[in-house]
Amino acid sequence: MRKPKLYQTGDQALVRQINLSLIMNVLRTESPISRASLSQKTELNKTTVSDLINELNERGFVRELGMQSSGTGRPATLLTLNPDAGYIISCEIAVDYLEILVTDFGPEVIWQIKEPIPSDTSQPAVIERMLALLHQAVEKGLSVTANLLGVAVGVPGMVDRATGTVLFAPNLKWRNVPLLAILEQENFGVPIFVDNEANMAALGEHYFGAARGYNEILYLSGNVGLGGGFLRNGQLCRGANGVAAEYGHMTIDPQGELCNCGNYGCWETLVSQNGLYKKIIQAIQAGEVSLLTEKVQARPENLSVEMIVEAAQAGDSLALRSLEDIGHFLGIGIASLLNALNPEIVVLGGLLSVASEFLFPVVNVEIQKRALLWNRESVKVVRAAHGSDACVKGGIATVYQSVLSQAPEVPLLDR
Ligand SMILES: [Zn+2]
Repeated sequence: MRKPKLYQTGDQALVRQINLSLIMNVLRTESPISRASLSQKTELNKTTVSDLINELNERGFVRELGMQSSGTGRPATLLTLNPDAGYIISCEIAVDYLEILVTDFGPEVIWQIKEPIPSDTSQPAVIERMLALLHQAVEKGLSVTANLLGVAVGVPGMVDRATGTVLFAPNLKWRNVPLLAILEQENFGVPIFVDNEANMAALGEHYFGAARGYNEILYLSGNVGLGGGFLRNGQLCRGANGVAAEYGHMTIDPQGELCNCGNYGCWETLVSQNGLYKKIIQAIQAGEVSLLTEKVQARPENLSVEMIVEAAQAGDSLALRSLEDIGHFLGIGIASLLNALNPEIVVLGGLLSVASEFLFPVVNVEIQKRALLWNRESVKVVRAAHGSDACVKGGIATVYQSVLSQAPEVPLLDR
C-alpha cells in the first residue's frame, strides 16, 4: 500500500474527506481489521479513526463483525465494509453483446445478464435495449437494498472524459455518441461513469482480480479488437486527452491489413478475434484440411475462439499454427510495451486468456528475445481472473473507487 500523506493544515472538510477515503481503502484491502490496526496502517491517531469509523458506520458503509482477541490485550472489534451499503450497476456495450452486472457493496452478484447483439443492429436500437436493461437492473437492485451508488458503462472505443461522449468506437462504427448525456436523461440520480472497456477491465482486475496487490499493471484483452489499459501507482493512465492506452492501434506491420480505425497494420489486425477468424477462414477457403473445415464451410459466422482452442487441443495443425501466429505478434507487442512502461504484471483477458495454453509459451519466448533484461526479469504474465466479465467487474470497481474516494451521503437504512 502507498504511504498515506498527512495533512496538518488546510481545508478541514478536505482533510476529513481524504482521511475517510484512506480508511475505506484500507478496509477494502485489509478487512476484517480492528480500529487499532486501521490507525497503524493509515498513520491517523486512534481518536480520529474512531470518530471517522463512527461516521462511516452511521452512513452505513462499515459493519462490525465481532471481537477478536490478540493474546495479551483487550479483545478488539473487527470492522469491514458493509455489503448492504448499496448496490452498483455496471454495463458493457461490446461489439457483439450487451452485459449487465448488479452487485451489492460486497461486491456480491445480485443480477447478471448477457445478450447477444446481432451484427446488423442499429446504434439507437443498441442504446434503447441497454436503457431497458439498466432500468431492469434498478428493479433487481432495489429488491435487495434501497441505495443505488452509481452506474458505469464500458464501451470498446475512445471516450471524452469531460463529456462522456464516445468519440470513436472503430469496431462498433460509432462516432461522437453523447452516451453520458443520454444516460443522464434517465434520471438515475447517482454518478454515471462512461469509460473505455479495457480501462474499466484493468481497474477491475486491480480491485477484484489477477492484479490485486500490484500497482503497475498492463492489461490487454483480445475480443473483436484488441483493448488495453495501464495503471501507474494504482491509477489509470489516461494521457493528455484521456484517450491513452489504445495499444491495439500501434502499427506493427506497416505493409499490413486495413484496420477498422483506417490505418494499416495495427496490432489488432494481427492479434484479435477478427484477425484469428480471418486467417482460419482464408486457409480453409484456399483448400487447407482442418477439423474446423466443416463448421467454417457451413456457417463461418459461427466460428468461436473456444472451437479453435478445442481443435488445437486435438492437434489440428491449422488451429495450432493460427494461435502460434497470434502468440508471436502478441509477444512482439508486449515486449515493446514492457520496454516502454515497465509494468510489474501483464494481465491478458478475453481470447488471450481463453487460448492462454497455446499463446503464453510463444509470448514468453518473444519477451525473452525482445524485451530488455531489466524490463522482463521480474514481470509476471498472467490470465485475467474475470475473463469476458472483466469489463463489467471493472465498472463495479469504477463506482467503488468513486465511493471510496468520496464516501457520499446515502440515506440511512433500517438495519
Ligand atoms: Zn487500428
